[in-house]
Amino acid sequence: MTISGAWRRTARGAGLLADDGSVAASIFAEMSALAARTGALNLGQGFPDEDGPPEVLEAAQRAIRDGVNQYPPGRGMPVLRAAIAGHQKRFYGLDLDADSEILVTAGATEALAATLLALLEPGDEVVTFEPFYDAYGGLIALAGGIHRTVPLRAPGSVTETFQPDLDVLRAAVTDKTRLILVNDPHNPTGAVFTAETLTLIVELAHRHDALIVTDEVYEHLTFGARHIPISTLPGAWERTVTISSGGKTFSTTGWKVGWLSGPAALVTAILAVKQFLTYVNGAPFQPAMAVGLDLPDSYFSGIAAVLKAKRDTLATGLTRAGFTIALPQGSYFIVADARPVGYTDGAQFCRALPGLAGVVAVPISAFCSPDHRAEYASLVRFAYCKTTDVLTRAAANLATLSPA
Ligand SMILES: *Cc1c(COP(=O)(O)O)cnc(C)c1O
Repeated sequence: MTISGAWRRTARGAGLLADDGSVAASIFAEMSALAARTGALNLGQGFPDEDGPPEVLEAAQRAIRDGVNQYPPGRGMPVLRAAIAGHQKRFYGLDLDADSEILVTAGATEALAATLLALLEPGDEVVTFEPFYDAYGGLIALAGGIHRTVPLRAPGSVTETFQPDLDVLRAAVTDKTRLILVNDPHNPTGAVFTAETLTLIVELAHRHDALIVTDEVYEHLTFGARHIPISTLPGAWERTVTISSGGKTFSTTGWKVGWLSGPAALVTAILAVKQFLTYVNGAPFQPAMAVGLDLPDSYFSGIAAVLKAKRDTLATGLTRAGFTIALPQGSYFIVADARPVGYTDGAQFCRALPGLAGVVAVPISAFCSPDHRAEYASLVRFAYCKTTDVLTRAAANLATLSPA
């Protein structure tokens, strides 16, 4: 029997099933297995190795004890939708109607999947920056869309970050573009986009009648550069779906509670798809996320300050080791160029790194379309959302790498 389906259109899908029916490992799975096998420090996958705020964890335990264990409402529990509305008002001055303009989802991932399936017709073009979060390529393909990318250019010095060429962005968005999907702060590069770039995205969306979808899961993890949700810019709200999640903000990536907001008509169209994906999820985690979103401002500034110190610990180690790095302005990740330490192939370097320095990283090529991997071949991503002890040891190990 031939096993086929829409998944075959995805970049990994093409090579996902081996002839013997086994599943080919992604580079993420391969690197995590390598970390487990060698005992190397795992700076590959982007999950924190410390628990989030105790009040949030306790609220989930209390909800389970209190019997919050059955299907919540399709749009999400009222207490969480009210907390999301309160959060968008407090941090961004947005006034949302919690009944019609907010939808709770199974993580940002389901919000992205339902949004793309709801808003794309087969053949519609979607523009993203590249490198891109790996799920984007898969989800666009599953929805029958055509993926166009705008490269983020590697910076010339450590004080710069990856940014797009605005003329290339202008050329990429055309009347065939249905949707511009923007991840800001950006995984894997740590870039925070400038107001000029965000304003141009809104302008282009108007000119070509495109929608904007934003992935803001790192909204509270920026270091100096202020996060600007595109939906707050003039003319943006009516055509923008804003997506976030509690996983990164509250160190609860395993809970998979996310949300989206936007004009009621768009949210309703997305709900029509979402009801047939998960229907609902995570009942006891929803009131706990509400507790998190209601935490005082000091919690949110505190996590950014702690993460900034971790970024600096790892950045210092990488620089001492001889890597060229781009100092990230946000997110969990630093991108380093392995050429100065003697490697032109990031994937090969990542396979060697546990033996060389007892550290695991992932190659940036895993975040690129097959046609563009060569341009990013020597770059690797290190996660610094780890304990200070792990980062200090990783930095010390990396510093022993001798430059070629
Ligand atoms: C982690 C991550 C997600 C996934 O969020 P979930 O809430 O776990 O589904 C989405 N986008 C980006 C850029 C991420 O880094």
